[in-house]
Amino acid sequence: MTALADILRRRIAATGPITVADYMRACLLHPEHGYYTTRDPLGAAGDFTTAPEISQMFGELAGLALAQAWLDQGAPAPFVLAEPGPGRGTLMADILRATRRVPGFQDAARVHLIEASPVLRAAQAAALAGHDVTWHTRLADLPQAPLVLIANEFFDALPIRQFVRRGDGWAERMVGLVDAALAFGLSDPAPLAALAHRRADTPEGAMVETCPEAPPLMAEIATRIARHGGAALIVDYGDWRSRGDTLQALRGHAFDPPLAHPGATDLTAHVDFEPLAQAARSAGAAVAPLTPQGVFLERLGITARAQALARGLTGAARESHVRAHRRLTHPQEMGNLFKVLAVHPPGTPPPPGTAAATGAAP
Ligand code: SAH
Repeated sequence: MTALADILRRRIAATGPITVADYMRACLLHPEHGYYTTRDPLGAAGDFTTAPEISQMFGELAGLALAQAWLDQGAPAPFVLAEPGPGRGTLMADILRATRRVPGFQDAARVHLIEASPVLRAAQAAALAGHDVTWHTRLADLPQAPLVLIANEFFDALPIRQFVRRGDGWAERMVGLVDAALAFGLSDPAPLAALAHRRADTPEGAMVETCPEAPPLMAEIATRIARHGGAALIVDYGDWRSRGDTLQALRGHAFDPPLAHPGATDLTAHVDFEPLAQAARSAGAAVAPLTPQGVFLERLGITARAQALARGLTGAARESHVRAHRRLTHPQEMGNLFKVLAVHPPGTPPPPGTAAATGAAP
């Protein structure tokens, strides 16, 4: 049993069952035993991998798309180049390398990272050596300035709550104790105004998830973009609307039951993009229709970039490069599961790779 499992069992025994969000928050960010606070979880030796760790092409293309959005808006200077949840700093390093030849971009960029993990802050400092970087714990602490932001697999790490439809109400899934072991249970059903719009598309007994921290974070991003200019790309797995139980734990690149090893596995949930888009629009920003990652990267020319890089490679390195291209874009790999939500000021073109909104919901 992990040390955190013991802490949580004692807490639940004393004060009663906790929400899935409370459980997730403790598992990921507990100051002593949290998953992110204590380790670097990425890469082959870790528990999971991400698009920028799979290939440099992801960060190069996303970075050039953001730089084009910045140019389209008259190259405001200075501007904040920000990333929440930057992992090992690989994505930001690729963006900074790819945009070196965009006139004025690097001189105007002030790099700001939002990171909760001291271990990963150290990795980011090493990856971005030679660049002037400011770290924050909270996204709300970003300066009020033009904001160019990318978030890859950040929103999926934010704590979710889970609700099961019961008649006109919702029963919340809780983490309690059965025979002194952590176990899921359900609260008594109660009405919930925040889920009123989901009654029409959620049958009796089906589950819906909410992510209470996500819309306020999106509002912080979108307010700055609407007021000062800039653009954001939010990349994550999920869909326009959440359906069913998507809470998952990954350990050594394999699924683990979510309650089995608290603090020792990565816990994530699919991102529900509709509330993010609504928060951005309410903050005065424009939102492009949700774009599958494969479509986004193809529109930005990943095939041509992959062919150019392949010319310098032979043998195993070439095979691994071809696999990486497929993994990022193929509909049966990350191409369809991952989506890109682009936020930009009203009246400006959306970042390349995404399309202008038509007025209809995506
Ligand atoms: N974007 C990176 C890493 C994704 S892993 C990549 O694509 O490789 C999730 C990242 O979010 C980690 O850096 C983790 O430490 C950070 N993180 C998770 N929850 C956070 C929170 N509440 N505040 C700030 N950072 C957080």
